[in-house]
Amino acid sequence: MLELKNVSKFYYKKGMITTGFSRVNLKFDMGEFVAITGESGSGKSTLLNVISGLDSYEEGEMYINGEETSYYTEKDYENYRRKYIGNIFQTFNLVNSYTVYQNIELIYLINGYKAHEVKKEINELIKKVDLVKYKNRKVSKLSGGQKQRVAIARALAQNTPIILADEPTGNLDKKSSENVLELLHEVSKDKLVIVVTHNYDQIEQYVTRKITMNDGKIIEDKRIKHHDEVNNTIVVNHKNMRGCSKAKLGIRNAFNILSKFLILTAVYLYVAIELFSIYILFSDSQTLLYESGYNNYFNADDLNRVVIYKNDRSEINETDFDELSKLSNVKDIIKNDIILEQELSIHANDYYISGRIYNINELDKLDYGRMPENDDEVVMGIDMGVDYYFNKSRIEETLKQTFEVSNTYSSLTKKNREIKIVGVKQIDDEWEGKIYATENFINDIKDIYIENVTSTKYTFLGNEYQSYKESFGELVPSKKVPKGKAIVLEDYMYSCKNFNCKGKAINITAKTPYSEIKKTVKVSKMYNKKNITKLTGYKMDDFASAIFINPDDFEELHDRKIYQSSIIIEDKELAQTTLEELKNMGYKPLYMRDTVYDSSYNTIARIFNIVKVAIYAFELLVMFFISYFVIKLVLKSRNIYYSTLRILGCTLKDTKKLLNIELFTFANIGYILVAGFLILQKMGIIHITFFSEAGIQAKLYHFVVIYIVISLMTLLTTERYSRKLFVDSVMNTYREEV
Ligand code: ADP
Ligand code: MG
Repeated sequence: MLELKNVSKFYYKKGMITTGFSRVNLKFDMGEFVAITGESGSGKSTLLNVISGLDSYEEGEMYINGEETSYYTEKDYENYRRKYIGNIFQTFNLVNSYTVYQNIELIYLINGYKAHEVKKEINELIKKVDLVKYKNRKVSKLSGGQKQRVAIARALAQNTPIILADEPTGNLDKKSSENVLELLHEVSKDKLVIVVTHNYDQIEQYVTRKITMNDGKIIEDKRIKHHDEVNNTIVVNHKNMRGCSKAKLGIRNAFNILSKFLILTAVYLYVAIELFSIYILFSDSQTLLYESGYNNYFNADDLNRVVIYKNDRSEINETDFDELSKLSNVKDIIKNDIILEQELSIHANDYYISGRIYNINELDKLDYGRMPENDDEVVMGIDMGVDYYFNKSRIEETLKQTFEVSNTYSSLTKKNREIKIVGVKQIDDEWEGKIYATENFINDIKDIYIENVTSTKYTFLGNEYQSYKESFGELVPSKKVPKGKAIVLEDYMYSCKNFNCKGKAINITAKTPYSEIKKTVKVSKMYNKKNITKLTGYKMDDFASAIFINPDDFEELHDRKIYQSSIIIEDKELAQTTLEELKNMGYKPLYMRDTVYDSSYNTIARIFNIVKVAIYAFELLVMFFISYFVIKLVLKSRNIYYSTLRILGCTLKDTKKLLNIELFTFANIGYILVAGFLILQKMGIIHITFFSEAGIQAKLYHFVVIYIVISLMTLLTTERYSRKLFVDSVMNTYREEV
C-alpha cells in the first residue's frame, strides 16, 4: 500500500543542513495499527509529515499503491492528500470558531458534497465519537479529549485509507487518551493507522507493529500482533468544492469571529466613507472651477449664456428670433438681454437687497407665498436660511411691506417704483437675490434702461444742449403737442426776434451704441406758469424748463429695437457647434464660459485644485496603506485556518476563493452601509450633516466607480496576502503559527 525506499529528509536553514531522518525503508499494509516511537528530536514528526505529503523529501522514493511520488508537483500532492491521508495532530488543528458539526461538515464541503445531503453522515460520525451532546458547541469550548475526538471524526469523514496521528494523546489526560486510542484502534480494522507517540506503554495493547526511531534512523521495526488482511483498498475520487459551498463557507467565515467581524467592518466602512467623500467632493470641486467667474462687461452668473449681435449691427427682428428658436441646443432666448446687466435694489425702511431681474416664466416652483397676479408684484429668489428678513420667523411680516425699487442709474418711473413681494424662491446665493417679474415689468425696466443709455442732444437758437432727466432743458413727451412741433418755455423769447420763437427749429440727435437718429421739430407755442397745464397737461413744478414734444416723435428718437440678445445653451458639451451655427447665421456670439475661462480667479482655482488633488491622492494612499495593514494583521490570525484548510485537502485555488469571498463580504457591508446612507440622504429620508455635501452631489456613476475601486482593492489585498501565505509548503506556514 505505502512504501518508502531509502527516503531521506533534510532541512536547510541559514546554510546549515539538519537531518530530519535518513535512509528510511518501510512498507505499510492496510489493516495495520503502527506505533512510531522514539526520543524527542529523533525524526518521528518529520517522517509522518513526509508520508502525509505535507513536506517533500530529498532522497529515495516513496510509492503509494505502487505509484512513484518523487516527481509530484504541489498540485499532485494536493490530490494525494485528499485521496489518501487523514491527519490527526497533537494540537488538534480544528477550526475553533466552528461548531463540532461545522468542523466535520467542512471536510464534506471541501470534497464537493452539498451541505444538505451529508447531514446524516455527519450525525452518525458525531455519534460514533460520542459527542452528540456537543454537536452545536464551538470547538473552542470543548475539552482536549473532546477536541481530539472531533479531529478523529473529521479524519473519518475524509474517508481516506490512511490515518496519520502525531502524538494524538500528547495533550490529554489518561482517561481521554484511552478513549481516543480505542477509537483509532477500532478504525484501523479497514484502514492503515500510523500513530506517533513517545509514550509507547499507553498504546501497546492496541498496536500490531512497533517502529522505533533514533537520530533520524529506524533502529527497530517489530511485529507485535497479527492484523487482518484487507483486500480491496477503497480510494474515493473526490469532486471539487461546489460554488455554493464556497459562498456558504466564505460568508460563515466573515461572521463567525465577532472581534474580527467588527474590525474588518470598521476598516471597510472607513474605506467606503473615504472613497465616497474624496471622490464626490473632488469631482465637484473640478466643476466649480469652470462654473464660476466674472468679466467686466456682462453678467456671467449663467455661464451658458451667449450674447449675440449681428455682424452688421442691425436689428434682430421677430423672423430672426424664429430662426434662433429652431436651433437644437437652445434652452432659452432672452430677447431683451440688457435686463441681465441691470442690478435693481429693493428697499423698505432699513431693509435693502439687490438682485437681477428674471422672467417669472423661468420659475417652476415657489417655496413660499404665491405667484404674481399684477405687474407690480414680484417673487424674490433669496437664501431664506441666511437672510434676516426672509427667514422663517420674519418672512410673513416682510411680505406685508411695500418696497421701493430703483436701478443703478436712476430711480424708476412712478409706476414701477412701488412693488410688492408676493412669493419667495429658495436659492443658494447669499450675495445677490433674483427678482422674478412679469413681462410688462421687465419691458418697463428695459424702456427706462434704453432712455438711460440714449444720449440725446439738440441745438436750439445756436446753442447745444444735452437732455438730462429731471434737469434743465429735458425733452418730455406730451400728447397735447402735435407731431413735428415743440412747446418751449416762454423765457426763450428773449433770444428770439420780436420775442417770438414760433417756427424756430430744434435739431435733435439721439445716439445709442447701435444707432443714431436725427429729427427736427419746430416751436409751435410757448408756455408759462399759467398756461402750462392747458398746453401740456403737466404742472410747472414738475420740470425745470422742459421742451415738450409729441410722444410719437419721442418714441422715434428712442430706438427701442433689439440689437443685442442672449441665448441660453442647453448642453455645454455641444456649445462649440452652437457657436458655429450662430456664426453661420451672421451673428457675433460671445460665450460667457469663454470670457471667464482665463480669469485670475480660475488661475488660482486651478492651482488650488492641483494642491487639492495632491492632498486627496496622499489621503488615498494613506488610506490604502492603513487599511491594507489592518487587513493583513487581521488575516494573519487567519493563517491557521487557511493552512488547516489546505492540510484537509482544499486546493490553493479554492482557499484563495474562500478568502476572497470573506473579504468581499466586508467590502459589501461597508459599501452598502455608506451608499445606503447617501441614498437615504439624497431622498431626503434622513439628514446627517456629515453626509450632507456628498449626499447632494452623489451621482450614479460615483456609486459604480467606487464599487469597482473597493472590489479591486479587495482583490489586490487577497492576491498579495495569499501570495505570502501560500509560497511556503503548508507545513512551514502551519509550523510558524503553532
Ligand atoms: P520528533 O518529532 O521525533 O521529536 P522531529 O521530526 O520534529 O522530531 O525533528 C527531527 C529533526 O529535524 C530534529 O533534529 C529537528 O531539529 C529537525 N527539524 C524538525 N523540523 C525542522 C524544521 N522545520 N527546520 C529545521 N529543522 C527541523
Ligand atoms: Mg514530534
